[in-house]
Amino acid sequence: MDRNEAKQAIKERISCTLYLIKSKNGLYCCPFCGSGTGRNGTGALKLYDTNTWTCHSCKKSGDVIDLYQKINGVDYAEALKELAESAGVEIDPYRQGSPQRTRKAPQNGNRSADRGKPADSPKSPQRAAGGAEDTANDYSQYYMECAERIEDPAAVSYLKARGINLDTAIACGIGYDPAWISPTTRRNQRAKGKDWLPEPTARIIIPTTESHYIARAISPDVKQYAKMNEGKPGIFNAGAVYDDKYESVFVTEGAFDALSIIEAGAAAVALNSTSNVKLFLKQLEAKPTRAALILCLDNDDQGKKATAELKQGLADLGIDYATADICGEYKDPNEALTGDWEKFFAAVGDAAQAAKRKPDNMRDYIDNWLYSDISALETAKDIKTGFEELDEKSGGLNPGFYVIAAISSLGKTTLAAQIADNLAAAGHDVLFFSLEMSRLEILTKSFARILAQEDPESKITSLALRKGFYKDKLKAAAELYKEKGIADHLSVIEGNFNCTITFIRTYIYDHIRRNNVRPIVFIDYLQIMQPTDEMKGRGAREVIDSNVTELKRISRDYGITVFAVSSVNRANYLTPIDFESLKESGAIEFTADVVWGLQLQCLTQNPIFEAQNKIKEKRETIKAAKAETPRKIELVCLKNRYGVATFSCDFNYYPATDLFVGADKEGFYKSYGADPTTGILKDDAEITAEI
Ligand SMILES: [Zn+2]
Repeated sequence: MDRNEAKQAIKERISCTLYLIKSKNGLYCCPFCGSGTGRNGTGALKLYDTNTWTCHSCKKSGDVIDLYQKINGVDYAEALKELAESAGVEIDPYRQGSPQRTRKAPQNGNRSADRGKPADSPKSPQRAAGGAEDTANDYSQYYMECAERIEDPAAVSYLKARGINLDTAIACGIGYDPAWISPTTRRNQRAKGKDWLPEPTARIIIPTTESHYIARAISPDVKQYAKMNEGKPGIFNAGAVYDDKYESVFVTEGAFDALSIIEAGAAAVALNSTSNVKLFLKQLEAKPTRAALILCLDNDDQGKKATAELKQGLADLGIDYATADICGEYKDPNEALTGDWEKFFAAVGDAAQAAKRKPDNMRDYIDNWLYSDISALETAKDIKTGFEELDEKSGGLNPGFYVIAAISSLGKTTLAAQIADNLAAAGHDVLFFSLEMSRLEILTKSFARILAQEDPESKITSLALRKGFYKDKLKAAAELYKEKGIADHLSVIEGNFNCTITFIRTYIYDHIRRNNVRPIVFIDYLQIMQPTDEMKGRGAREVIDSNVTELKRISRDYGITVFAVSSVNRANYLTPIDFESLKESGAIEFTADVVWGLQLQCLTQNPIFEAQNKIKEKRETIKAAKAETPRKIELVCLKNRYGVATFSCDFNYYPATDLFVGADKEGFYKSYGADPTTGILKDDAEITAEI
C-alpha cells in the first residue's frame, strides 16, 4: 500500500475510542485542551460515525492519527508507521501514491455514502443555484450539491457563530447555497408567466425530507423571510429515534435546537412545526422506538400545547418520555449552547442519563465502565509504602485520597518523598508535584538517603552533594538511584504559579493516556497550591477546601492513589495531633479517605503531656525531642476508610540524611501486645480489641 491507502486503512480499522477516555456527559475528554478532565467532567470532544472527531472547546478536529500523535508524543511519520503496524498494514516506501488530498475532501464522500446518498452522481450545473426547480418534490440531488459546499467559509463561520461545528453539520447533511431563490417562488412566477425573481440570498440548507428543507439566511441583513420552509414541513433527523446508539432522544421544535443538542453529544429530532406532533406520533405508531424521548419544546403557549399533545400520544403508545430543562436561563437550546456551552453540555448529558430507561443497566456498565474499573483495581493491588510496619497495619495503599499532616520539622515531606521513592523502586509510576522544593533538592535528598541506607558510615548531607564537594559520591548515588529503578518511574514536577489543580489534573490525564499506566500522585504541599482562576481572591481556607475536594475527585475519577502533604497549625504542637489540628483545612476530615498525622513520640509516650499545665516543661521536652538524633516520630492514623483506623507506627527520623527508618521488630511487636523477643501474640482477642 502507498501512504494514502495506508492512512485510509488505518482510519477504517482503528477506532479513535482506543485513545479516548469517556467523560461524564457521554462525550470524550479532549487530550488537546483537557476538556472533560475539569471540575464538572464536561467533555467537549465528539466522535463521529466516520471515526473522526471535533472538540467543541478548543475547536480542534482530526482523526485517529492526530489522536495517536498527541497521546504518544510522536510525529506524524512515526504515528503512521506505528498505527499501520497495529492495523496490519504495510506501507511501501517506494510507492508515492496519488497526491494527498485535504482532510475533509475524501471524508465528504464517505459521509454522503454513509447517509445512503450516491456520492458520485453527476452534477447538473443548471440546478446549482436556486434549488431544484425541475423536480418540485424531490430535492435529493440539490441537497447533495449543497452538502458539497458546506465548507465554504461563509457557511462555516455562520455555523460557528451558532456553536455548531462543521463535522456536526456534515454528519447531519446540512448544506449551503450561496445564491438561493425559493423554488416555490420560481414556479409561481413561471406559472404566472412573469420573469421577475427576488435577489438571491446565501442560505444554510437543512434537509428534513426529500421534499422539505429549511433555508436559513446567513446574512443578518436579510430580515424578511430569513428562515424559510421549502415544501410541507417535515421532521428533522426523524430517523434518530431508531439509532441503537442512543437510549434517549430529545424532541425539539427548531432544527438549530436539535443541532445544538447533537453538538452536545446526544440525539435529537426537530418537529419544525408544532403541527407536526401528529405526524411524529403517526411515525412512532407505525414504527415504535426503543429510546426514551425527552421533550424540549419551546416554552410558549404553542409549545406547551404541543407538549401536552405529545405526552398524551406517547402515553397512549406506551413510549417512555420525560421532560427536561436544558436551557437554564436561556431562551432555547441554541442560545444556551452559545451562551455557556459547558453548562449546556452537562445539562444535556444529565438529562439523557436521567431519561435512560435503565440508567444502571449492566450492559451500560459493561460497555462503558467495566474495563477501566478492572484496570484501576489491577493497578491498585499490592501497592506498598515500603515501610513494613505501616504496610502491615494499613494493609497497603488503596486508590483514594491520602493526607500526611504534621507541623514543620517532623519530616512530612521527607516521609512522602521516601514513600514515593519506594513506590517507584517497586515499579509504580509516581508523579511528585513539588510546589516548594526544586527537582535538584528532591533528588539530592534521595541521594543522601540512599547513601545512608547503603552505608551508614559514609553518610553525607544533600546540601554537601548539591554544593558539588563530593562528585564521586554524587555519581555513585546517581547510579544506585537508576539501578533501583527509581529514576525511570518517578517524575518530579516543579510547581510554579501555573500549578493549579487544573494543571495537575491535566498532567495526570496526559500521563495515563500516554503511558497507559495509572500513576501514584504526591502533592507537596496542600497549603501552597495555587488557586484556579475561579477561586482567585477567595479566602485561603476556601481555596484549600476546594483543592482538597478536587484532589479527592481526581483520585476517584482515575482510580489512583493521591497523597497530599499538609501543614498543621503550630498552636497545637503541645498536644497530640487530631482533627482539631487540621481544622484550618476543614474539608480534610470529611473528604480524605486516609489521614496520617506525624508527631513526636514523646507527646503520647511521655507522661508529662497528660498533665493539664506544665507548659514550660512540655516545651522543654519537645525541644529536647526535636534535638535528638534520630528524631523519634510517631505516625498516627486518624482516619482510614479502608480498614483499621486507630493504629500508629513509630519511626526514627534522621534529618541530616533525609531518612526515615521504621521501628524495629521489637517495637512493632510491642505495639501489637506481642512478646518482643519471639514476636508471639499473647492473646488474639486482646489484639483484636486493641486494633
Ligand atoms: Zn479540546
